[in-house]
Amino acid sequence: MPGKWDWLMESLKDKGLRTKYSLIFKFIGKKISGADDITKCALCPNMCRHACPVSIVDGKETTSPAGKARIALFINKKVIDLNLDNIYPLYMCLSCDACTQWCPFEFSVADLIRPLKEEAVKKGLIPNEIRDVFDKLESSGNIYGRRIKEPSENKRGNVLFLRGCEIIENFPELADKSIALLKKLGYEPFTLENEKCCGMPAYNLGNIDLFKKLAKENAKIINSLNVSLVITSCPSCAYAYRVLYKKFGINLKPKVLHITEALRENLKEKLVAHESLEVTYHDPCKLAISLNEPDLLRSILEKIEGVSVKAPRRHGKNTFCCGYGGSAISRLNPKLANEIAKERISELKEEANVIITACPTCKKALSKVNSDITVLDIIEFLNQFI
Ligand code: SF4
Ligand code: SF4
Repeated sequence: MPGKWDWLMESLKDKGLRTKYSLIFKFIGKKISGADDITKCALCPNMCRHACPVSIVDGKETTSPAGKARIALFINKKVIDLNLDNIYPLYMCLSCDACTQWCPFEFSVADLIRPLKEEAVKKGLIPNEIRDVFDKLESSGNIYGRRIKEPSENKRGNVLFLRGCEIIENFPELADKSIALLKKLGYEPFTLENEKCCGMPAYNLGNIDLFKKLAKENAKIINSLNVSLVITSCPSCAYAYRVLYKKFGINLKPKVLHITEALRENLKEKLVAHESLEVTYHDPCKLAISLNEPDLLRSILEKIEGVSVKAPRRHGKNTFCCGYGGSAISRLNPKLANEIAKERISELKEEANVIITACPTCKKALSKVNSDITVLDIIEFLNQFI
């Protein structure tokens, strides 16, 4: 894919260095210096909309990146009210940060509009579907509000494996497979009997108090275990435990790895497929963008002899969210979430009939909208070869 500044460089290619610098400076900085970030974004001609999955599939001005910033600005300036109708488009965001990759200011629209969601949560001006997530998290510590299913083995070892709500609820077999894989890599993993949500959905949906409550409870339990390493198969959990907790001053003593990072550190042996196989892959946004690992999934797949890895058009930091990121669209507008997943599948299908990802939520979203294609988590795929 072309880079963020290619078009600008192309248009300035015949100009001298001084002219180039002066034009670029005027373009990205001086003209609107002094304005706050939300105003800059609201005034922008939507320069990232071509990368925003919501904008591409929904096709509406209000749910485009700058469109959301304009609504947020109008609410801030009291031009329009903060109410259920006006907060709804702000929840039409996947928190994928695809916009950030193309923004001249490197803004994350998800971050810019989060304060408005926080205010809406505090005033109770949120849709019932969002309130339901908070109620479930409050009452059970799990986004689905159900009792945790235990994996088959749970002897105390030296590495805490955290499953995350999605695996606990929808893919308990992925927990068993992750544990089996970690054992093959030489770890002694164990799980928490009463594992709670990392808090990421509460953060995305604007309930920062609930996020902090869950984060503090988790940190207290995890720090008391005296383990030096936590591994999870969910990139959102890895991002929350490693990055978000720190951002909120919540100290988690053990190092935190996504399972693909553990594989990079410990997968030494050469892997061989019994028969040649063509696969493509879907980079989860939280792994490729937020955890800054744009090449990790592909590099692991390329270690398997006999597996031909076909890159989709949008990959690495230019990946395209599965439609279920951010915890809001799949609940408030499942039709749109599924349309985004279909858009992604249609692109992946051009490359191969087997799609490998590294996130249980992506696996759920992509499998849901297509039955004639195989979507596997890297864990279940690798277990065949190790
Ligand atoms: S995030 Fe950046 S590129 Fe996208 S609309 Fe806002 S200012 Fe423009
Ligand atoms: S975070 Fe993702 S869904 Fe939200 S505005 Fe940016 S690109 Fe669009």
